[in-house]
Amino acid sequence: MEIKIQNLSKKYKNVKALNNINLAFNTPAMIGLVGPNGAGKSTLMKILVGQLKATEGEVLIDGVSLNKREKYLKERLGYLPQDFGLYEELRVEEYLDYMASLKRIKENKKDEIKRVLVMTNLEEKRKLKIKTLSGGQKQRVGIAQAMLNNPELIIVDEPTVGLDPEERIKFRNLFSEDSIDKIVILSTHIIEDVESICNLIIVINKGKILFVGEPSELVRKA
Ligand code: ADP
Ligand code: ADP
Repeated sequence: MEIKIQNLSKKYKNVKALNNINLAFNTPAMIGLVGPNGAGKSTLMKILVGQLKATEGEVLIDGVSLNKREKYLKERLGYLPQDFGLYEELRVEEYLDYMASLKRIKENKKDEIKRVLVMTNLEEKRKLKIKTLSGGQKQRVGIAQAMLNNPELIIVDEPTVGLDPEERIKFRNLFSEDSIDKIVILSTHIIEDVESICNLIIVINKGKILFVGEPSELVRKA
């Protein structure tokens, strides 16, 4: 898969949230989208998942405009938004069953749910109500739903917010193995949370790309 972001800008009334973004990446890629609050990360991710329309420019997936990729967006994309509301009263497996239905997974639904439960190390928690889980466990449920249908593109917005240090380390382990055949984009304002697992870092601030490259090329200011 190839994603091309061309001359992309987004304005909210008088705020220029994205200012002429140009990026391209191919499978496989493990990408950290890094920038302070208000940089434009969520806006970029919402455009990539089709939730928000750009003011200018476009996104191409394998050469085809994102706007023409409705089925793909609905069924073949993994997305964990930042303000993700889990259905607290549901049990983990009920919730994943519901999300699998939304993605039109039919015949192999049971196996697919099992697969993502194992991957996120939640098999033992599958019968528990979501409201009884810890913050890190809930976040893994969110990542499990994003992995349903084995999408080629997974987008996770601020996955480490609200996690304690131990949960942060678990989070890093979650993506390192599974990501080889995908494009995974993780946004964060804490670079340490992604630099060890990503092979590409994109730094964004005030709607502009400041840096694109390998983590080792990134010189951090002390
Ligand atoms: P980040 O995810 O990096 O914190 P955002 O994409 O949420 O950044 O925001 C980028 C800029 O756009 C910020 O100045 C933010 O306040 C503004 N913004 C985001 N969403 C809206 C909106 N719905 N209406 C107006 N301004 C918005
Ligand atoms: P994020 O960093 O993910 O954008 P925020 O707390 O900035 O989180 O935004 C939460 C929600 O409020 C988002 O849906 C965003 O689009 C919206 N939002 C952010 N800034 C503004 C703003 N200045 N005016 C209106 N809506 C905003």
